[in-house]
Amino acid sequence: MTDTSSRVAADATEIVHWVDGAELTGSPTGWADVTNPATGQVTGRVALASEADAAHVIASASRAARSWATMSLARRTQVLFGFRELLNARKDELAAIITAEHGKVHSDAMGEISRGLEVVEFACGISHLLKGGHSEEASTGVDVHSKRVPLGVVGIISPFNFPAMVPMWFFPIAIAAGNAVVLKPSEKDPSAANWIAALWREAGLPDGVFNVLHGDKTAVDALLTSPDVAAISFVGSTPIAEYVYETASRHGKRVQALGGAKNHMVVLPDADLDLAADSAVNAGYGSAGERCMAISVLVAVDPIGDELVARIADRTRTLLIGDGTKGGDEREADMGPLVTKAHRDKVSSFIDSGEAAGAKVVVDGRDVSARGGEQGFWLGPTLFDDVTTDMDVYTEEIFGPVLSVVRVKTYEEAVALINANEYGNGTAVFTNDGGAARRFEADVTVGMIGVNVPVPVPVAYYSFGGWKRSLFGDTHAHGTEGVHFFTRGKVVTTRWIDPANRPEGGLELGFPRND
Ligand code: NAD
Repeated sequence: MTDTSSRVAADATEIVHWVDGAELTGSPTGWADVTNPATGQVTGRVALASEADAAHVIASASRAARSWATMSLARRTQVLFGFRELLNARKDELAAIITAEHGKVHSDAMGEISRGLEVVEFACGISHLLKGGHSEEASTGVDVHSKRVPLGVVGIISPFNFPAMVPMWFFPIAIAAGNAVVLKPSEKDPSAANWIAALWREAGLPDGVFNVLHGDKTAVDALLTSPDVAAISFVGSTPIAEYVYETASRHGKRVQALGGAKNHMVVLPDADLDLAADSAVNAGYGSAGERCMAISVLVAVDPIGDELVARIADRTRTLLIGDGTKGGDEREADMGPLVTKAHRDKVSSFIDSGEAAGAKVVVDGRDVSARGGEQGFWLGPTLFDDVTTDMDVYTEEIFGPVLSVVRVKTYEEAVALINANEYGNGTAVFTNDGGAARRFEADVTVGMIGVNVPVPVPVAYYSFGGWKRSLFGDTHAHGTEGVHFFTRGKVVTTRWIDPANRPEGGLELGFPRND
């Protein structure tokens, strides 16, 4: 259950599953509160699926998958284009839902939707992406062709921090490739998934192809173990990603499980310090640091540490913290609240422990004054200097607006820090030296690298994924790796008898040769 201490809004809603093109309450094991983090009010409660509910949704998806897979590519593509048009026209509505349950500011919610839309646009090209190969006369009178076919039912399990974009890393491609989807969103901000499901119906997607199963571990375990689910795409924290990878693999599924992160941004002495300071603030505190690609460690290479910290601190102090609802004429807040009270308190306790361990608190987010409800889950941006690698503010993924500056003497020390870290999601280098940047790109054991770009989330036609304990499995999200993940290959070897040129038959029990 999420926080229950807050007040319940008079118009609180019930959020239930979406199956066969309609809402379904099923027989929940319980309900979890959904809060507006800017007011602290309980605005709804979401059904937690029982095993029977999960079985019902999976069975519906299985039925729909069979007919959807045989629908022509032309018709499937038309549905994708329809979905793209509707989403683009109505993305403001979805952004408002995200802000109300997640807390990120409206423009940030619009940003996540536009990055998800990119994947929908990529999936609109599925006809091209699914083209196979053909070899004529591979052997005498024998042709060979390959194709990629859908898997059936695929499960997507997503985290709270991107309720629209992360599911959209997967479902446009999964659906375009001919699969049916069961999405298990985070119980903290579940409404975006239902809004998206209704949009699919409006776009003409047959009922049962896109389903939403709300819930907790019971719902997740049902997806991981069901013989009728062929693949799992998971995004969330590393311990759960590892559990999902191991459990689903043991049950014969292909799995991509994306986990947590601790992203380092290295600033070399020749860097443009204003660009670096702007980037550190944007990437450290955007979405209140609740991004897997947030910068949480800034590595300042001597001698620029003092100057860089001063410029970051100046900028940080100008940030407006507040309710992220799209305001009238008011300046939009830069940063919203944290997702729940429990999470805000946990992040705040990291600030206590960093201070106690001897890190220097340059800007203290615990003193925040925010524009919004008194009961909101507020925490201001915090800047630590002189952080060392034994402090838990360095070793733990905090997932909040806390930026830790670590000082090093050399480039080599900076790279050693990154490569010793258990995570390998994203990293960035700030420099004006092309040679150093090129060396950095080769040296780091990280999946996504930015050069003077602090949040290097790949565009949709490339693939998103980290290394080490940031990803379990070998396939990254979206791009051609996504197409590969949601399809399996077939190779067909064909011989047609031409009466005018009939090959000699006869018995031959040796292994077939090509000649
Ligand atoms: P989380 O691991 O708590 O939850 C993710 C999903 O797993 C949710 O749907 C949740 O209901 C489910 N879940 C939670 N506990 C479970 C359990 N014991 N058994 C089965 N399922 C369970 O993650 P979160 O707090 O929602 O999201 C934040 C985390 O996600 C951070 O660690 C962040 O780095 C990570 N993340 C990673 C990426 C990436 O691309 N690598 C992207 C976004 C978020």
